[in-house]
Amino acid sequence: MAKSPKALVAGNWKMNGTRASLKEIRTLASKLNDKKVKCNVMICPPATLLCEAKEVAKGSKVKLGGQDCHAAESGAHTGHISAGMLKNAGASAVIVGHSERRADDGETDKDVAAKAAAAHANKLTAIICVGETLAQYENKETLRVITAQIKGSLPEGATAKNTIIAYEPVWAIGSGLTPTVKEVAKVHTHIRKRLNAALGDEADQVAILYGGSVKPANAQELMSAANVNGALVGGASLKATDFLGIIAAYE
Ligand code: PEP
Repeated sequence: MAKSPKALVAGNWKMNGTRASLKEIRTLASKLNDKKVKCNVMICPPATLLCEAKEVAKGSKVKLGGQDCHAAESGAHTGHISAGMLKNAGASAVIVGHSERRADDGETDKDVAAKAAAAHANKLTAIICVGETLAQYENKETLRVITAQIKGSLPEGATAKNTIIAYEPVWAIGSGLTPTVKEVAKVHTHIRKRLNAALGDEADQVAILYGGSVKPANAQELMSAANVNGALVGGASLKATDFLGIIAAYE
C-alpha cells in the first residue's frame, strides 16, 4: 500500500489580521518548537503581513502561504498580487479557488487552473479548493460537482509536490456545520480516484485537506477519515491556542 502523503494543517486568515496579530504566529512558532508534530503547519495571512510574518516565523516549523494570486506575472491589474510577488514575500504556497473567491469574484474552474499554473511556474504549491453548495449537497450532487471542479481546476503539470486539494463544502465554511466523517471519507476517496484518473500513481501522494468548521473539538475525528491528509482552517486559525488544538490531531 502506498505511503500516505504528509499531512498539512493550514490556516486561512482571510481578510483578518493587522500587525498586532503577528503575535499569534510568534506563539504558534514557539509552542511548535517544543512539540513533535507529524504534519506540516502553514498560515496564510493577508498579503500585507507576509513579509513580517516571514521574519516572525523564521527558523520555525511555520510555513507561510498566500490566499490568492493573479494568473499573470505582472501588469495592469490594480489591487491584484502575482504568484511571483507572493514567493518573493516569503510564501511557499497559495490557496486558489476558495469558494469565497468563486462566489464573490465569479472565478471559474478555468480561472482557478490558470492561477494554479501561475503558482507552479513560481515554485509555489497550489492549494486548490473545491466544494459543493448547500443546494448541491441537498440535491445529492456533491460527487458530480467535485468531479467537474477537479477536472477543470487542475492545471497541466500538476504533481504531488506542487499541488494540494482542499475539499471545503461551502455550507460548512464558517457555519459550525460539518459533514459526517463517513461523508467526508466518501468525498475524499472520490477525489483520490479523480486524481488517479488525471495523474496516475502520482495521485497517491497528493495531500487532500478537509476544510469547513474544523475546531479543536472535531479535528481528531475529521482527520481520521479515509484520504484526509490535513485541514484548511478559517476562523479557528486566528488564535494560536485554537489552531494548536487542531494541530494536536497530528501529535
Ligand atoms: C475556510 O474558509 O477555508 C474555512 C475552512 O473556514 P472555517 O474554518 O471558518 O469554516
